[in-house]
Amino acid sequence: MEPAKLTPKSLSAFQQALLDYYDKCRRSLPWRDENDPYRILVSEVMLQQTRVETVREYYRRWLKQFPDLQSLAAADSHEVLKAWEGLGYYRRARRLHETARVIVEQGNGTVPRTLDGLRELPGIGEYTAGAMASIAFGEAVPAVDGNVRRVLSRIFDVSDPRPSWLRGTAAGLIERDRPGDWNQALMELGATVCVPRRPECDVCPVSTWCLAHQAGTESDRPTKSKRSCPKRIQLALAVLYDDQQVFLIRRFWDGLLGGMWAFPEVEVSGMSDAETGARAAALSRGIGVVGVGQPLPTCKHRFTHIEATYHPFAFRSAVSPVEDGAVWVLATAPTSFALPTAQKKVLASFVEHIL
Ligand code: SF4
Repeated sequence: MEPAKLTPKSLSAFQQALLDYYDKCRRSLPWRDENDPYRILVSEVMLQQTRVETVREYYRRWLKQFPDLQSLAAADSHEVLKAWEGLGYYRRARRLHETARVIVEQGNGTVPRTLDGLRELPGIGEYTAGAMASIAFGEAVPAVDGNVRRVLSRIFDVSDPRPSWLRGTAAGLIERDRPGDWNQALMELGATVCVPRRPECDVCPVSTWCLAHQAGTESDRPTKSKRSCPKRIQLALAVLYDDQQVFLIRRFWDGLLGGMWAFPEVEVSGMSDAETGARAAALSRGIGVVGVGQPLPTCKHRFTHIEATYHPFAFRSAVSPVEDGAVWVLATAPTSFALPTAQKKVLASFVEHIL
């Protein structure tokens, strides 16, 4: 086909080409063809900032443990974070839990059927509401995620598309008989063909209408935003142990890794004051330590805007009564406590080197 510009007249051919591709080539995914709003919500929240391959197993396990909104709403926040452990961005789990509680307690378990109704729920943003409304309820509303942003930016050869332009443009393209499939088709194109680096224009079902492809600018669209440098912080961790047990605290709900269990920590300037810092972190929790701290391997973890370097020190201590939000647990089996990835590594090296 000759190159063409996407116009109201050519819109239906464009829609047909993309839906044909979707019907023929879409990946088989556990949440594909799902129209249960709860399951769609779970998959959409898990897929934010996480790869499909990672999500598959978490999604399967999650639905086994929390098969519906009611079971999730009734769960303890402890269990919810434990089920999310390792998936990262734990705020997503807390919001999902809160959303389930609000739907069950205030909405009688009924999920709102429209974009506007969904947007009123805590923890459901514009994209998730659009995906749920279109896929579960057939409402003709857009769902613009990062993949859709890239595809639209290229099709219209727009270097830095603004959210309002993206919403308006995506709304104008929707195939009204199959809005859920349409939104998923755009996402699928972005995930499999119109990928960030080296888009596969030769096999793209909509290359005929793609202005960036015609202009040879596809690799430059959209303009890459300059990633700001992460803030670097150094943290001393106190791994307090007595015989087989280690001491954990529950982190404040409103901070980084809120609600997760962790070793006491304190920010330090580097390795030089890490042992002193770890000792101070222990004392701040009312735990006395004996002797010099034994250093464990340093480890790093990258959060969205922070790069943390952990300097763990193990101190022999004595099990003592603890207040709410702290616990002594068996180091080899802290199974019901959700630990962040870096802290799990520290615990593993403690078990390997010191226990
Ligand atoms: S032609 Fe290329 S750049 Fe355009 S939508 Fe298709 S894959 Fe993306």
